[in-house]
Amino acid sequence: MIKAKVKNILEELPPGVDLVAAVKGRDSAEVEEALNAGVEIIGENYLKEARRNYQILGSRVRWHFIGHLQTNKVRKAVKIFDMIETMDSLRLAETLNFECARIKKKMPVLIEINSAAEKGKYGILPEEAISFIKKVKNLSFLQLSGLMTMGPFSENLEEVRPYLRSTRVLFGQIKERYGDELKNWHYLSMGMSATYKVAIEEGANIVRVGTAIFGSRPA
Ligand SMILES: *Cc1c(COP(=O)(O)O)cnc(C)c1O
Repeated sequence: MIKAKVKNILEELPPGVDLVAAVKGRDSAEVEEALNAGVEIIGENYLKEARRNYQILGSRVRWHFIGHLQTNKVRKAVKIFDMIETMDSLRLAETLNFECARIKKKMPVLIEINSAAEKGKYGILPEEAISFIKKVKNLSFLQLSGLMTMGPFSENLEEVRPYLRSTRVLFGQIKERYGDELKNWHYLSMGMSATYKVAIEEGANIVRVGTAIFGSRPA
């Protein structure tokens, strides 16, 4: 029961922690059921699915992009989304800024951090985060709003925790250093179904939950 699962999760979340329902691969009826149970933010990995869901559900919810965004999809994406959680390269940042300027929309963005420096994973390396901030902080149609990380996959939560913690530390360092300029620096998006409780302990205020709401994904 999607409804019961959403209610349970919402009851568990401490005040100030936002739930993003990660809906990849779900049909619109399932997404709608989650909304009816109290979900206020939808997380989309794919623009095509997002456009389909947006046509049905429109702006009665908020839309976060949580996948890897290709630059050739940015023009369509910026029309729909209220936040891009996965800004993972300078080229993407510049394209987002350009397309948002075209439609005069200021876009909240999170910088995706490849917190465990995994090969083949998207995201800015932790040690490059400060120099990345310097390059993107003056892109005037982006509102730099915080950090997002996936963390490594492991059955053992204690192996994931250090990367969530180090991302929180980085979030704080950036706030200290650039807080005066970055007025919207509020969000730390960490944690999925298996890890969101640990992520909250480590300071997350956005959690992105899929299977714990919708069940395991169809193969
Ligand atoms: C799928 C996905 C989630 C949710 O993962 P679950 O394990 O299904 O909860 C969270 N974040 C991102 C970026 C995802 O792609």
